[in-house]
Amino acid sequence: MSTSHEYDVVVVGAGTAGCYAAATVASEGLDVAVVERKSEEEAGHIACGDALKGADAFPEAIPKSRIEGAFTNTGVDHGRFEIPQEDTVLDIPVPGELAVIDRWEYGRLIIEGASDAGADFHYDTVVQDVTQDDDGAVTGVRGTRKGDVVEYEADVVLDGAGSLSLLQDKADLSESTFDTNVSYSQFCSAYREIVEVPEPVEWDDALVFKPTERAAGYLWYFPRTETTINAGLGFQMNEEPMKLVEDLKRDLRNRPEFRGAEVTDKLGAALPTRRPYDSAVADGFLAAGDAAGHVNPTTGGGIAGAAYAGTYAAEQAVQAISEGDVSEASLWRYNERVMDHFGARYAGLDVYNILSTAVDVDDLMGLLASLPGEKLAEALYSGTTSFGPTLLAKTVKDSFGYWGQILNFYRTKGLADELMRHYQRYPTRPETLSVWQDERDRLMDEIYEVTGAEAKY
Ligand SMILES: Cc1cc2nc3c(=O)[nH]c(=O)nc-3n(C[C@H](O)[C@H](O)[C@H](O)COP(=O)(O)OP(=O)(O)OC[C@H]3O[C@@H](n4cnc5c(N)ncnc54)[C@H](O)[C@@H]3O)c2cc1C
Repeated sequence: MSTSHEYDVVVVGAGTAGCYAAATVASEGLDVAVVERKSEEEAGHIACGDALKGADAFPEAIPKSRIEGAFTNTGVDHGRFEIPQEDTVLDIPVPGELAVIDRWEYGRLIIEGASDAGADFHYDTVVQDVTQDDDGAVTGVRGTRKGDVVEYEADVVLDGAGSLSLLQDKADLSESTFDTNVSYSQFCSAYREIVEVPEPVEWDDALVFKPTERAAGYLWYFPRTETTINAGLGFQMNEEPMKLVEDLKRDLRNRPEFRGAEVTDKLGAALPTRRPYDSAVADGFLAAGDAAGHVNPTTGGGIAGAAYAGTYAAEQAVQAISEGDVSEASLWRYNERVMDHFGARYAGLDVYNILSTAVDVDDLMGLLASLPGEKLAEALYSGTTSFGPTLLAKTVKDSFGYWGQILNFYRTKGLADELMRHYQRYPTRPETLSVWQDERDRLMDEIYEVTGAEAKY
């Protein structure tokens, strides 16, 4: 049997990007369907560390008051970096509002928010193909629901299907600016467990981070409550694979606070730890969230980026539909808004991710232990930092033994700043993208040379 549907906008994926997009489209009075492969019960159950940064300023399409019920711990205000190599623990303030959430409950609440705004949700529907007209413009998607074929026709298709989205494998986007320079090695493989501990942990006001045995990965312990802990880890997929389940188990075994603990949920997934897509638009098509690399590549935080990108993509789609022109050029402004808001910063942060694949973990940890915490926090979240003369003198003294590494970092920082400035000059039209890309690629070559890292793109 085959069913077909017609909508103004079809959103694939009922995750953060998809729900914020659908709520935005629906509140503008257009017809929108969200197509989700999971069942209604399972939708919103997504692998995550549960740390929500910037919770105070989420897009209004689903207001904060609607998702607050999922914030199980709002008392977290700093990162606790455990550095076993140096026998050191660093407490580093995290700027902005931070909450640890019950991710599944949050997932249900955003679906409810989009549904109340007027979006239709079609569950158990796996999108398997993208339909395009003779000129290559995207016209809809095709999938299956419980064995039956389902077709969707839409003015705009919005890809919110997450990491390594299947839609981008199926669509032929070669004639557009849409970024197809995407490979698994630009992703991180991550796994987490929800663990109930018998006694309250002492660090329920902190996000705990710990390096894995190799530099390009970390373990985390995020307290949903003082006895419910999200424990997980991940590694960059261009590195030799880690045994995620075993490595986590080993670390848990060595921590006294997890003695007698019970694991209540397990999930793993890939997440993009790369720069945002150079362009996430084509005729009749936009991608947002993990499907367009909208994740902070140093922390792996992608919820806020997905919420904003979903909103911006939907606003652009609505405008394009109202003007009767859903071409790439008409959707282009979406790319600019992403780069303006967080894309430039994430591209700058990606440089430090690249650097981390080329340095020795012990050197990196020794260096981190010698640096002032608040400066590290700035570097982690804003993509840049600067030292006043007194602090600089103290840092230089404390970091004796790492000066060669610091010089290298300093040069890398200069290039990361230059790269961010280049992203701030992101083109205003698709026609000039390739010129902009040439200069960006030249900067990237310098970055690979200075860091000694392998080319990532
Ligand atoms: C282990 C792990 C820990 C993380 N920790 C954090 C954290 O602590 N804080 C944070 O901010 N971010 C974290 N992230 C990243 C964050 O989860 C993502 O960036 C965010 O969920 C992206 O939202 P999204 O809507 O783009 O994609 P997703 O949330 O992945 O949603 C995609 C949706 O599309 C559906 N879908 C996929 N393919 C199809 C198809 N073919 N047909 C129909 N439906 C489809 C999926 O079922 C899913 O519901 C973590 C990620 C992982 C993997």
